[in-house]
Amino acid sequence: MSGRVLHGRLIADLHRHDLAARVSVLIARARVPGLAILRFANTGPEVSYAQSLARSAGSIGIAPMDVRLPEDATMDQAAAALETLNRDPTVAGIVVIYPIPGHLDPEAVGRLVDPAKDVDGASPVSAEQLARGEPAFVPATAVAVMEILNHYRIPVAGRPTVVVGRSRVVGQPTAVLLAAKGANVAVAHSETADLARATREAEILVVAAGVPALIGPDYVNSSAVVVDCGINVTEAGVVGDVDFERVLPLVEAITPVPGGVGPVTTMMLLDQVVTAAERAAQTPAVTD
Ligand code: NAD
Repeated sequence: MSGRVLHGRLIADLHRHDLAARVSVLIARARVPGLAILRFANTGPEVSYAQSLARSAGSIGIAPMDVRLPEDATMDQAAAALETLNRDPTVAGIVVIYPIPGHLDPEAVGRLVDPAKDVDGASPVSAEQLARGEPAFVPATAVAVMEILNHYRIPVAGRPTVVVGRSRVVGQPTAVLLAAKGANVAVAHSETADLARATREAEILVVAAGVPALIGPDYVNSSAVVVDCGINVTEAGVVGDVDFERVLPLVEAITPVPGGVGPVTTMMLLDQVVTAAERAAQTPAVTD
């Protein structure tokens, strides 16, 4: 017996079609949705991510805008760039590519993004809205986890659920969304004393630790649905946080890496861009 593979690419393709249709309605009303992608890095995975996001946006009719700041940019420079994007009516959404240079405070940079354009839910203002149960833009990976569970009709209410990782961008918001759907959520992290014991309890196991093969055969039970958010670049290629080959035969279902959470995350982010553009199209443009 082998677990079921939960394919994210399939879900992403379904959304791509719907989103392209919503974008064409906006374009017909001369409201081409723009997505500003702000990055500090000139090399590394941040650049590939920014480029791939721009390509995906372009593929459904969103106009990507590549905004670059030097790696030694000051907080004032970041503030000025974000203020310009906040005021630009052609920019529906803003994504800051993290990690940002160490001398800048990520939370302070997040606060500079207009919450109405914070399409990756990166601003502390969005996180506060989410925690209060108010409508908010949510980090796209957390939305993607929920979308995968929903697409495959995996019930969460009342089920023992463990989220490994408590970062602001993945673990925390995922735990909040799962709890809002009635899951019995426990959050494990690097200080959890016996991780395997904690994760073996889970019927829904979401992993976002950034450690290749952290979750092996001893960490799961046979009724587990495992959602692997990890994206780790190794010599063997891109791998998740779960030892997929060894865990697959032991669980109910599992997402692969690549082809699981990643492609759905991109579509969920673009969905929030289109939502931001649709909302902006409802309100008259502000002119000075
Ligand atoms: P992070 O480093 O900010 O947080 C990692 C979390 O995992 C921390 O809370 C830490 O306590 C916990 N952790 C680390 N090592 C652990 C261990 N040995 N045991 C238990 N807990 C441990 O990382 P992040 O930004 O949340 O990203 C996590 C992973 O998700 C990374 O692989 C990242 O590349 C990936 N990611 C994927 C997407 C996507 O679209 N699929 C988006 C963002 C991040």
